Amino acid sequence: MSECRVLSGKDCIITCKFGMRTHPVTGAYKLHNGVDVVGEGYSLAYITAHTEGIVEFAGYNSALGYHVNIRLENGDMMQYCHMQGGLQVKIGDFVEQKQILGIMGSTGLSTGAHLHFGIQSGGVWVDPSPYLHADYLEDTMTYEKFCEFMAQYEAERNAKPVSDWAKEAWASMVSDGVFDGSRPQAPLTRQEAALVLGRQKGAADGV
Ligand SMILES: [Zn+2]
Repeated sequence: MSECRVLSGKDCIITCKFGMRTHPVTGAYKLHNGVDVVGEGYSLAYITAHTEGIVEFAGYNSALGYHVNIRLENGDMMQYCHMQGGLQVKIGDFVEQKQILGIMGSTGLSTGAHLHFGIQSGGVWVDPSPYLHADYLEDTMTYEKFCEFMAQYEAERNAKPVSDWAKEAWASMVSDGVFDGSRPQAPLTRQEAALVLGRQKGAADGV
C-alpha cells in the first residue's frame, strides 16, 4: 500500500465509511459526513494536510474535538477532526500539502483515536475515500462544478441560456446511462467528465 495523503508516512485503514449511519456515541441516525481513518496496524500518526490551503479554523469544540478546517484554492474545504491538543497550525496559516497539522487523538465525540476527515464542496459533504491516495483538485469535479464548467463551455460557443442547458445535459446523461445515479453527491472523476464530453460530442455529430 502507498502512503496515505492525510497521515505522515503511513497507509490508512478506513474504520468508518462516508454515508448514513447510527452514531456510536449519540445513537442518532444521520450522515457520517467524512471517513474515519487510522494508521496501518491501528497505530497513531501525525495528521497531514491532503491539499494545500489556508487554515480557516484551528481549535476545539465538544463534537469535533481539536480540529482544523482548511480552505482550498477552489473554495472547497477539508476538515481534520479529533486530534490531540497542541495543534501545529493556527488560523490564517498557509499550509502545504503533507504539512503536519497535529497528532491523531480521540477528543470530542469519539470512541477511540482516529482521524475523521471530511471534504465539503459547494456546501455539500462529499465522500473523501477516493482521494486518500490521490489528488483532489486535479482529479475531481463535483456536480455543481460540472454544471458551471458545462455552462461556461456552452456560453463561449453560443448564447443559449446556459444554466438550463447544463441541467438538461446532466439529466440526459443520467437517463442515457452515462451515470447510473448510484453515487448521489459523489465527485465526478475527470475520466467520467471526459466520457460525458465525448458522448455529448458524438450525439452532436450524429454518431
Ligand atoms: Zn467520523
